[in-house]
Amino acid sequence: MPDPSATHPDLADLEAARTGEAPADVDAHVRACEECRRMVAELATCARALAPVPPPVPEPIEARRALLALGILRVWAPGKADRSAPALVADVDGNGVVDIRDAFLIARALRSTAAPPSRFDVNGDRVVDERDVELAAHAAVALGRRS
Ligand SMILES: [Zn+2]
Repeated sequence: MPDPSATHPDLADLEAARTGEAPADVDAHVRACEECRRMVAELATCARALAPVPPPVPEPIEARRALLALGILRVWAPGKADRSAPALVADVDGNGVVDIRDAFLIARALRSTAAPPSRFDVNGDRVVDERDVELAAHAAVALGRRS
């Protein structure tokens, strides 16, 4: 019996499962794996909750996203509300956008044997773990830039 955590689809695949675009083997895994089902359900819940995305604003979108990300991170990490979090704390790949790739990067780092970079500690609890992945995924889904 292989370690199930080594065979979970990555977050990009889970996001694809949420949108019905995942390969059959991923769908099969998600159906059989409670943990992945929960993650997909959580992604779906976030997407639904935040679905009425404001109409596209041609303006300084990155700045708006930064503010939104900060607000969202505060909602999801109320205990950290007063710590001076950088706005795009979940933008771990530093490309100026919080998207599912950020969560994916953290998830991948967790499966690697190398110590994850400290910037992957999205929730600031000094441990890089699944909570950071989920927080980044929440932020990405909430920011809702599926294209
Ligand atoms: Zn799984």
